[in-house]
Amino acid sequence: MPRLAQTFLARFDQAPEGVWSAPGRVNLIGEHTDYNGGLALPIALPHRTRCAASVRDDDLLQIHSLQEDSFVEVRIYDVAAGHPAGWTAYVAGVLWALRKAGYAVRGLNVVVDGQVPLGAGLSSSAALECSVAAAASDLFGLGLLDSAEGRSVLAAACQRAENDIAGAPTGGMDQAAAMHATEKHALRLDCRDGATTQVPFDLSAHDLALLVTDTRASHALADGQYGARRDSCEKAADILGVEFLRDIDPAALDEALVQLPDDVLRRRTRHVVTEIARVDEVVDALRDGDLAEVGRLFLASHASLRDDYEVSCTELDLVVDTAVGEGALGARMTGGGFGGSAIALVAVADVERVSAAIAAAFAAAQLTAPKSFSVTAAGPAARD
Ligand code: ADP
Ligand code: MG
Repeated sequence: MPRLAQTFLARFDQAPEGVWSAPGRVNLIGEHTDYNGGLALPIALPHRTRCAASVRDDDLLQIHSLQEDSFVEVRIYDVAAGHPAGWTAYVAGVLWALRKAGYAVRGLNVVVDGQVPLGAGLSSSAALECSVAAAASDLFGLGLLDSAEGRSVLAAACQRAENDIAGAPTGGMDQAAAMHATEKHALRLDCRDGATTQVPFDLSAHDLALLVTDTRASHALADGQYGARRDSCEKAADILGVEFLRDIDPAALDEALVQLPDDVLRRRTRHVVTEIARVDEVVDALRDGDLAEVGRLFLASHASLRDDYEVSCTELDLVVDTAVGEGALGARMTGGGFGGSAIALVAVADVERVSAAIAAAFAAAQLTAPKSFSVTAAGPAARD
């Protein structure tokens, strides 16, 4: 019996009614664009979080994770901002959000087992939320996994859990990827209206691999900086008289920039507007099979995030510079920045060599050893 079912049986004295899982994600391009009403292009990772669950007769949630040494019990009606605190907020918050959205949900026994590295910018939080949402949809007969509309409802509930209960002010990209991304495709996500489009993404046909490097760095200033970037974007949009920076036509960027009062606002705006344009340039290049162009766009994105948006860091720059020095077609930081992960587009035959070079560069710089692994575009939240 798998470890998850075994733990469930030992904990609750019964087998789970089922196991559901949801993937982590990596964003190919379109960084810091979600809160600007822009575009992003995530893929779902083969790394998944599994949730074994059974319905209870009362309103209690009993929650255990194989990654955390804690067992938490909370009543659905007591869930509120900051309660429960810690990792169980991501689980309880989903049930709370579904109830708020008008769905009849009751208590659950839950054990989770996550393969997505925690806090690496690969969205273990959304994988956790979405695995629980998938379980709740099936166990309470909500049928929300069966249609794209239903999946959007689940994604929205997961985002509310993260924003309102766990208190993390993130956009909706992670949950959309976990609910909508499909195998061998990237998900073009329009963050203004939530529209999704599947874009073929099968690098093996080009003898290429997507190498993810978890830098294992997480810089303390990340939280405040995220808020500061959002504030700058809102301020710039306000001055330019648009709802979102998405509304600035890239062809009219220079005219917009001269209206902004300082260099910081100009650089933040330039990143957002050019980054949104790059998403569709990558989509076109993927459809044309022009992977060299995808690599160039990755590099342009990284330079923009490093120089104009100022969210990169030593570790992320080192991955990108080393990968490119070893012949990668392109590389960039992915996720919010200040640590987390980077991606590189690498020939399959070069994966080992590039990974080793990155590890050697980190060792030479006396940084914590990073973890590199190649990934393919995997499928969305589902019953296992
Ligand atoms: P990321 O989503 O990039 O991994 P976050 O900070 O958004 O980083 O989410 C990480 C948090 O999600 C962890 O600190 C923990 O609270 C929670 N989490 C994710 N997966 C699990 C898991 N399998 N078990 C317990 N907590 C988890
Ligand atoms: Mg997260």
